[in-house]
Amino acid sequence: MNPPNVRILLIDDDRVDRRAVRRLIGERYDITEAENARTAFELLSREAFDCVLLDYRLPDATGVEVLDQLATSNGASSLPVVMLTGSGGEQIAVNAMKSGAADYLSKDTLDAYLLEHAIEYAIYRKTTEDQLARYTTDLERANSEMKQFVHTVSHDLKEPLWSIRLFARRLREKYRSHLDAEGSTQLDFIVDSAETMSQLITDLLAYARLDDDSTLPTGKVDLSVVFERVQRNLTGVLEDVDLDVEEPLPIVPGNESLLMLLFQNLVSNGAKFRGERRPHLEVTTEEEEKSWVIHVRDNGIGIPKEAQYKIFQLFGRLHSSDIYPGTGLGLSLCKKIVNRHKGEIWVESVPGAGSTFSVRLPR
Ligand code: ADP
Repeated sequence: MNPPNVRILLIDDDRVDRRAVRRLIGERYDITEAENARTAFELLSREAFDCVLLDYRLPDATGVEVLDQLATSNGASSLPVVMLTGSGGEQIAVNAMKSGAADYLSKDTLDAYLLEHAIEYAIYRKTTEDQLARYTTDLERANSEMKQFVHTVSHDLKEPLWSIRLFARRLREKYRSHLDAEGSTQLDFIVDSAETMSQLITDLLAYARLDDDSTLPTGKVDLSVVFERVQRNLTGVLEDVDLDVEEPLPIVPGNESLLMLLFQNLVSNGAKFRGERRPHLEVTTEEEEKSWVIHVRDNGIGIPKEAQYKIFQLFGRLHSSDIYPGTGLGLSLCKKIVNRHKGEIWVESVPGAGSTFSVRLPR
């Protein structure tokens, strides 16, 4: 049995039809009647209803006109409407659904079950839609607040950190001779920690910014040029590394800066996560029908199979930063960049033998 507090507004100019509806569902619902659109809107402005049963033909408006007005009038916009049509009203029904009716029923075949089902479903659907709209709005707000938070905190943190780095470095340069070994080590620790934190903030900002810059320029990006820049940027890191880059590399659609950031991360990781051997990195490509796959292969420490899912997650690190420094943001950033290019990124690896990071980019 439905709770008697479900309120229905029945808008129909035909007294016989109104009575028929009341006979069918009057015991289950609290029904208020209106014989024209004007009376209906007066009632709607004063009272709350859960659902409207609307006759298509009214003396002062058509059903679609009432639906349009309902959609624009305040408060009633989320009111579910079930349209009642006469025989042969299929086209009317289609128009009604386009204008936002939740359902329609032909008066010729009306029975209690159909009416009740249509009302319950209309209320349920509208409630669910409203809930979803609310969740979406809440989520969007939370998301934008979060981004704002990251930006503010990152910028606010940078300033004091800059002072810590500067004065710790000065202290080290000027007063190292006055410190004993322990003091000197502790000072090194302060400088290193400040450097790590600075890198973390830079990475976090880059990560957060990636969502905002929906207007990033895109064009044809020559990956040979990208890799030349990567090598130039990583000159120090690559000093004792053998790097073979296949030539020529393909040209792909995308954003040059982001693709450079992507491959710079993969190459510097390949150099960083080295084992006993001298690092050897290879960049090769594979042509597919609709895409290019770029492989960055190293002969480093490798990644155990069971940990591979973790490394693309935010802060997903497998080692302490004493052994391999880093922030754990690089591969999450790579994943985001690849997603933005509608591509894929994955890793295949044998612990102790090396890893191959592969990026599929549409042509
Ligand atoms: P970070 O390099 O700052 O630690 P990343 O997000 O780039 O962060 O990488 C996450 C983790 O994935 C690393 O900490 C490391 O454990 C693992 N990893 C990434 N690249 C390699 C690689 N080429 N070889 C072995 N492990 C890797």
